[in-house]
Amino acid sequence: MACCKENERTDFDDMAESDPFKKNAPIRKKGLFGYGVSYNNPASWTDWYKPGAYSFLKMKLTEKNEAGIPNEEVLNRELPVHKLDEEGKEKLKNPKVPIQFMWIGHATFLVQFDGLTVLADPVFLERCSPVQFAGPYRYRPVPCEIKDIPKIDAVIVSHNHYDHLEHDAVEKLNTKFQDIKWYVPEGTGSWFERYNCQNVKEMTWWDEDDVKIGGKEVKFCCVPAQHWSQRTATDAMKSLWCGWVIKSKDSHTFYYSGDTGYCPVFKTIGEKYGPIDLSAIPIGCYAPRYFMKPQHINPEEAVKVHTEVGSKCSVAIHWGTFNGLGSHEFYLEPKTLLEKAVSKAMEGNKNFGKFSTVEHGAIIPIKSNQDTTNDSKDDDGAKL
Ligand SMILES: [Zn+2]
Repeated sequence: MACCKENERTDFDDMAESDPFKKNAPIRKKGLFGYGVSYNNPASWTDWYKPGAYSFLKMKLTEKNEAGIPNEEVLNRELPVHKLDEEGKEKLKNPKVPIQFMWIGHATFLVQFDGLTVLADPVFLERCSPVQFAGPYRYRPVPCEIKDIPKIDAVIVSHNHYDHLEHDAVEKLNTKFQDIKWYVPEGTGSWFERYNCQNVKEMTWWDEDDVKIGGKEVKFCCVPAQHWSQRTATDAMKSLWCGWVIKSKDSHTFYYSGDTGYCPVFKTIGEKYGPIDLSAIPIGCYAPRYFMKPQHINPEEAVKVHTEVGSKCSVAIHWGTFNGLGSHEFYLEPKTLLEKAVSKAMEGNKNFGKFSTVEHGAIIPIKSNQDTTNDSKDDDGAKL
């Protein structure tokens, strides 16, 4: 018997190790006396550690914030914001290109393809904080308010940190677009229900949801990311974090990595869902590395993510918007380092595609089957 049990265990372990979906599944633990649940990144992601109190203290006491946010005039030149005007609203209402992307700021963006309009990680207020008199502040304004956005079919949420999820935005969205579908990671559904959201779909990594939106078949897929969650003093890791893949049937595929450290899952995501036409990948909030590395990729790692998922075209997000998020890099450094990392990666790799920053509020047309030799330009001159 002992021998058989031994064999069964080995077979199961072998299977778990060779099955990329089991190997890249979140750890889900019941709390004391079976009360509550907590999550963690898979044990096989050996670079993961939750940044502890010691490194937080070290960062607070020894690191200088090098953000160096300049005055308004310089900001308007370096990080122009395209306010959504009537022409822009018309473009959002009736997209004339296969895929369209608008960066609202930090991790909030709008992506449109195949008749579908999706908003990610809705944050519109001045501060991403539990209160509006303190906490990280916006140094680049939003290009539009929720009332200006003509349509939204679905909202995808990567996790519950304040720079990704805001109750005010959720309430406004819920009032304006009552049919909205909310795709949220496991453990966050009850938070949305508090704000009377209907159609809330809680999902865990590798879950898929097939829906029909505007007569078109679309698949929303919850995919792994190396991060963590916390919204209050007592709820750390009590809900999941994730990335999202959205596949419209027989047409385009979009990928949002969510906040993530570099981990060994991106190739699997690309193999399962590729080819990916467009990705949104974070490039900022990476310094100092001893604190940020497990939770936020830097531009060089972002380029690795783009390559490993096999993205034809990627847009850089999670930078250039808020000051005081805890990271200390110069405000334009993510852009400069991305440009360097992209040129390096393109040497000898004709299939690299595109990976670039975009300007706040610029409505960016993305070509289907991205031609890597031609730049896409929108009317505002913002190019990808
Ligand atoms: Zn974030």
